[in-house]
Amino acid sequence: MQTPPAAVVEVEGVVIVGGGVAGSLLALALREQGVAVTLIDPPVAVEAQSVSATAISYGALPGWPLAATPLARLAAGASRHWRRLQQRHGELGWRRQRLRLNGMRAGLGATTGWLPFAQVDTAVLMARLPVLLAAAGVQRRSARVQSLAPAAAGWQLGLDDGATCRAEGVVLAAGAACRTLWPALPERLRSSWAAVLELPAFPPGLGPAAAWLPQRFARVELERRAQTLVQAEWVVDPGLVPWGTGALLGQLSLIRPGGALEPPPLAAGSEQQLRAGLAITPWGAALAGQPGRIREAAVAFCSGGVPLVGPVPQAPGLWVFSGFSAGFSQVPVLAPLLAQRLAAAPGPAARAERRLQRMGVWPAGG
Ligand SMILES: Cc1cc2nc3c(=O)[nH]c(=O)nc-3n(C[C@H](O)[C@H](O)[C@H](O)COP(=O)(O)OP(=O)(O)OC[C@H]3O[C@@H](n4cnc5c(N)ncnc54)[C@H](O)[C@@H]3O)c2cc1C
Repeated sequence: MQTPPAAVVEVEGVVIVGGGVAGSLLALALREQGVAVTLIDPPVAVEAQSVSATAISYGALPGWPLAATPLARLAAGASRHWRRLQQRHGELGWRRQRLRLNGMRAGLGATTGWLPFAQVDTAVLMARLPVLLAAAGVQRRSARVQSLAPAAAGWQLGLDDGATCRAEGVVLAAGAACRTLWPALPERLRSSWAAVLELPAFPPGLGPAAAWLPQRFARVELERRAQTLVQAEWVVDPGLVPWGTGALLGQLSLIRPGGALEPPPLAAGSEQQLRAGLAITPWGAALAGQPGRIREAAVAFCSGGVPLVGPVPQAPGLWVFSGFSAGFSQVPVLAPLLAQRLAAAPGPAARAERRLQRMGVWPAGG
């Protein structure tokens, strides 16, 4: 006997697929516009090895522009947005942080007391998000979206819990999984795999807790070359940030040619590469053997550095919000504008669209 097809659940308002920093801050911004929001994100076990990019991000917020673009200039002020979010919703893990640039001299780091710097502690953020999203009235659904198809005046989503939903508007904020859900997304959206070591405590030999970052991230350079790669390439960036009661050490980035999301590399191999990569740097050598647990994440990025923000070409009612090079700086600036464009009255919506255009991120297919 055939199982009868599951009834289609009509969802009011906007459905957001993905509950990382992008989907979550957009959900909060849409709620501020009075829009009903349903956020769909799969359940993740605390002990899972493979997590979202947001969950293992350093959450670093440099208070100066990292490029000479309008978006980078605004992103340098991201701390102001995080502070406002914390005032409105409660603790999100944002705090001022001491910055030390490693690699200035062998084994030493230069304290940069004069640079404005902050960090979102992503261990705190991940613990707090479910609570404050619920308090803001965001409906959450713990499931993985398996299929997405146009339906009468909207979109139909098939979930891995057997349910089928229909909504007028859907925003893809599923990071590296966006292309799996909608393969026709612009080619510049790509993905990589990242790995970090989760340490149980901040290494005591380094003095008071601080963010120790390389002066230049090799990951950024590798992302820029992504479209020209003919074979998989990986780099290790030596960094360390406080994270909950522990710390995150190192950052391995693996980029394969092509735009599709490939399966994760073997964790044991990633750990070996990460530790070996740390061991050959003057700053990382003493830390490479620290006891810690490897955590991996698929990461979306855009070759060229401009994220995808806006309507998906040839797919009315489908929107994308992904591909950030520095999500913690860019998302708090962009999410309120995208929410206004999606939900506000024609005048403010048009103003929000013009601001997104001036930042060069609109339209998403451009
Ligand atoms: C090690 C590391 C360090 C970093 N450091 C920094 C930093 O210091 N500063 C900074 O600004 N950025 C940093 N980044 C980048 C930053 O983490 C990302 O830009 C940001 O987290 C992207 O957020 P996102 O919400 O777009 O994607 P993600 O965090 O990847 O979230 C996507 C979500 O979609 C969900 N999802 C996937 N598929 C489906 C599906 N089919 N159905 C439903 N849900 C789905 C996933 O479960 C996940 O929760 C770092 C990244 C890494 C990996």
